[in-house]
Amino acid sequence: MDLRLTDDQRLLQRTAREFVEQHVKPYVREWELKGAVPDTVYRKMGELGFLGAPIPEDLGGSGLDAVSYAILTEELAKGCSSLRTSLSVNASLFGTTLNKFGSEEQKEKWLRPTASGKKLGAWALTEAQSGSDAAAMKTRATRKGKDYILNGSKMWISNGAKADFVVVYASTDPKKRHEGISCFVAEKGTKGFKPGVVETTNKLGLRSSPTAELVFEDCHLPEANRVGKEGQGWEIAMHVLNHGRLSVAAGAVGIAQAAFEAATDYAKKRMAFDRPIGAFQLVKAKLADMATQVEAGRLLVWNGALMKERFERGDATYDEWGLAVSKAKLFTAEMCVKVAEEAIQIHGANGYTNEYPVERYWRDAKICGIYEGTNEIQRLIIARHVLGKEFSAT
Ligand SMILES: Cc1cc2nc3c(=O)[nH]c(=O)nc-3n(C[C@H](O)[C@H](O)[C@H](O)COP(=O)(O)OP(=O)(O)OC[C@H]3O[C@@H](n4cnc5c(N)ncnc54)[C@H](O)[C@@H]3O)c2cc1C
Repeated sequence: MDLRLTDDQRLLQRTAREFVEQHVKPYVREWELKGAVPDTVYRKMGELGFLGAPIPEDLGGSGLDAVSYAILTEELAKGCSSLRTSLSVNASLFGTTLNKFGSEEQKEKWLRPTASGKKLGAWALTEAQSGSDAAAMKTRATRKGKDYILNGSKMWISNGAKADFVVVYASTDPKKRHEGISCFVAEKGTKGFKPGVVETTNKLGLRSSPTAELVFEDCHLPEANRVGKEGQGWEIAMHVLNHGRLSVAAGAVGIAQAAFEAATDYAKKRMAFDRPIGAFQLVKAKLADMATQVEAGRLLVWNGALMKERFERGDATYDEWGLAVSKAKLFTAEMCVKVAEEAIQIHGANGYTNEYPVERYWRDAKICGIYEGTNEIQRLIIARHVLGKEFSAT
């Protein structure tokens, strides 16, 4: 096993760092206050091939391997977690749904434009009353001739206010619960489908992410908009979440790395008792622990990425891949909050203001343990592997 990056991976890392230094870091505070990232930034990300990074090249993406994609995601999160979320949702959740389960026509129609960054995708599973227990969804898709009629609403949908296309899950047979869920694509502008409440600056973090409610009122979608078979939605969602969760974990490493770098820099410059605070053993210990935690998180992410490659080669099981992803997500989601909190501590009062980025890192870190499966849900998944399915209570 060799953990050194390849020449291509180093080039990608450098390109992503330059993009973040030039086009993201100088503006991120302004975006947060406004609650939006300008369209020009999304366009630039599209031109660089970031928005379709893990999607095959023949479908408009960049065809990155899973470790390279994790490297890119980490770098973007160092600059702006809202932007990283948009990328992950577009590529890992929306893109993978179509790449793995879409027909050739669906890939041409919806995957190619989103992978090349010309359009943006969103992915809608959660509802106001059903998050962890997503199979309890109330959104219904009722057959009428060759159409489905969707009624219901989705909540907390990243990219929701901005997306051109949305993967949406609805129940076609409520009695069957998980087995009664189907997956569809809805296009912006379709009659009966519109964004509802938009959540931006009122959120703890991810303030420039266009999170929105999506409302479906007698929205007719043709059968051609169903992805996979009727009743296959749950299987699709769980498969796709393995991709999404790993990119959340890589993003968490990015936040932690940024917080660690800011704290290290500050500890070298801030004077107390006639010396830089980095000279005090208690501050040194914090930085040493932070460095170790970030590295441990990154290795878990790369392990999850390698497991994905192995799964796709038929060299690891679906469960082994899922377990590696859940461990990476759980560890990094908790780790990035701790590391960001220590970074605030090292900054003292300055860390408590938005003049310094560490308070934003901490606010942005918190969501990593909530979306795409909370920390508790990841623990349940890991415990199911440890104890066996007969110990599962859900
Ligand atoms: C900014 C943001 C962006 C989001 N983006 C998207 C998106 O793009 N698409 C999408 O579909 N969703 C999205 N979500 C929704 C997110 O995935 C859900 O919020 C998440 O799954 C948790 O669901 P919930 O909020 O309903 O919490 P609940 O499920 O109500 O959970 C509340 C608490 O109970 C715990 N809990 C629940 N069940 C159990 C159990 N069996 N055992 C132990 N503890 C349990 C949870 O861990 C949590 O601590 C987003 C949310 C936010 C805040």
